[in-house]
Amino acid sequence: MNNIIFLGLAGAGKGTQAQILSDTIGIPMVSSGDLFRFHLSNKTELGIEANKYMSIGALVPDDTTINMILQRIGEEDCNNGFILDGFPRTLEQAESLHKAVNGQINCVVYIEVAENELVKRLSDRVICTIKTCNAILSKSAIGGIDSNCPKCDKPALSQRKDDLPEVVENRLKTQIPLIKQLVDYYNNKDILISVDGEQNVDMVESEIQMKLGINQ
Ligand code: AMP
Repeated sequence: MNNIIFLGLAGAGKGTQAQILSDTIGIPMVSSGDLFRFHLSNKTELGIEANKYMSIGALVPDDTTINMILQRIGEEDCNNGFILDGFPRTLEQAESLHKAVNGQINCVVYIEVAENELVKRLSDRVICTIKTCNAILSKSAIGGIDSNCPKCDKPALSQRKDDLPEVVENRLKTQIPLIKQLVDYYNNKDILISVDGEQNVDMVESEIQMKLGINQ
């Protein structure tokens, strides 16, 4: 069983690293933010409800979020494990997850990045809206948002509304005290590893794989 959680503030690189690890060890990545955005793009009731919170940088209520994630990790492709990105974000979510999997969490990877670096990264972030691509990119590195996605070559790049500066500040303000609680919670269970998220993507990946004992 490979049940792994990625913890980190918005922009720390959780999604990127969770995807790399998922591709490396063949365990599905489950991202709460991607699930909410998927629901919203399909205009489901859940998506429309969640967007009321997402658009202002607030957390979606625990009940809704917990139900969505527990249902997703109960699907067949998660029989050998899951890699969670963006969940849990509150102690209540962590406790519900712990109960649902009978304490079977192997490891929590905490990606640490300073707050001022996060603000810079989030305002530069663009994503590919093609569901099968989902690339996360740097606007300055690819020369703007109007070019085609360098990964799938489709004209589908977009800046997340919650990456706009006024929302970013609110997201980080909400997240900082909560993440401290989660770090303590998993540290007390002795399953937390910390990784320096200010290195480049490859170096963060290497540090994670080394600390998880994955042969590269
Ligand atoms: P993310 O893509 O992880 O940055 O999430 C985008 C937004 O989705 C967040 O700002 C929240 O509004 C919502 N969201 C994602 N995960 C959670 C969670 N575990 N609990 C509550 N809200 C969440």
